[in-house]
Amino acid sequence: MSNDFIGLSVPNLKGNELKYVTEAVETEWVSTAGPYVEKFEQAVAEYVHTPMAVSCQNGTSALHISLMLMGVTREDAVIVPTLTFIAAVNPTKYIGAEPIFMDCDDSLCMDPIKLEKFCQTECDFKDGKLIDKKTGRHVKAMVVVHVFGNMADMESIMDIAKKYNIKVVEDATEALGTYYTQGRYKGMYAGTIGDIGAYSFNGNKIITTGGGGMIVSQNEELLKHAKHLTTQAKADVQNFIHDEIGYNYRLTNLAAALGMAQMEVLEDYIQTKAENYNHYKEVIDQIPGLHVQDFREGIRTNHWFYSVVFENDESGRDKLIAALKENNIQSRPIWGLISDQLPYEGARTFELEKAPWYWKRVVNVPCSTNLTSDEVDRVLEVIKKF
Ligand SMILES: *Cc1c(COP(=O)(O)O)cnc(C)c1O
Repeated sequence: MSNDFIGLSVPNLKGNELKYVTEAVETEWVSTAGPYVEKFEQAVAEYVHTPMAVSCQNGTSALHISLMLMGVTREDAVIVPTLTFIAAVNPTKYIGAEPIFMDCDDSLCMDPIKLEKFCQTECDFKDGKLIDKKTGRHVKAMVVVHVFGNMADMESIMDIAKKYNIKVVEDATEALGTYYTQGRYKGMYAGTIGDIGAYSFNGNKIITTGGGGMIVSQNEELLKHAKHLTTQAKADVQNFIHDEIGYNYRLTNLAAALGMAQMEVLEDYIQTKAENYNHYKEVIDQIPGLHVQDFREGIRTNHWFYSVVFENDESGRDKLIAALKENNIQSRPIWGLISDQLPYEGARTFELEKAPWYWKRVVNVPCSTNLTSDEVDRVLEVIKKF
């Protein structure tokens, strides 16, 4: 068996990427003006069924703008998950607002039961505002992450958000292509159900533009405002008149050229991800004490990341990662809890139980869209021997 390196989640650029990027270079449209930016925005908006989409430099900047558009200020609090990538939470701090760390459930996404309990027991709801009794802060928004391409329980979360007048920012950076196939939100894509949503096209995401992001919403006015803010808030382009503090967050034509080519193959990638997921799952679920984490029922997931869970023995995590590394296979533990990270020392948390449990027990195994069935077998050989 070959011993070639198998990466965890690497770019796959075998379609029209080079052709479109070459065209961008040859026509010298490489910066934020240029036809591919709008084409890419339209392609994403059509794909997820929103009136428009607003490109950004990355998912982090898309989340930053999203929170600002929800009216979050330095006086407010934002409910965020503790088990996720830190870029889901940092934008709250860019604004100067206070994060409140919430637990996950077995979907690895935000636990709606604890979310409601927090609102009921830790807050007062008066004059249409949810006020954290401990800090006096207005809990104005929450960031809901669709972890690893799973869908958070949006029916429950939207009910709670409505009841307590909390804005919902969907961090769908890992979940482009995931949508409901049943229920109240049947046919709706992750990122388009809450008030506003963000995608990422970082190198490890399901499609990549090198670095890039996108803001979507059902609310076209909000998206127009997003575009204004991401393009330096120009009120009068010709005369350099600006009416707000704007940002230089727009995607470049070079990156958008990659994005257009990647959109053409997104559905193929999702299919490959599903096939490899099922291949892993068939074998690993037979091994006592191990399983591959399921995705929610009633959705079409993009299967972005695969999670192997050590059900009992938490010492297995690091040992498996080391064994895979010896075989030239990249894997990783799930993220360290954000509420345990140095910049968030002393942050407000609420009943964190499942997140620390999963943190000790999850290993993410290779899931690139160019991963072959033989390579999955190579990973499985190491796991079986282990
Ligand atoms: C990737 C990611 C982001 C940030 O996206 P970038 O494009 O890397 O800035 C934010 N949140 C989560 C959950 C992510 O996985």
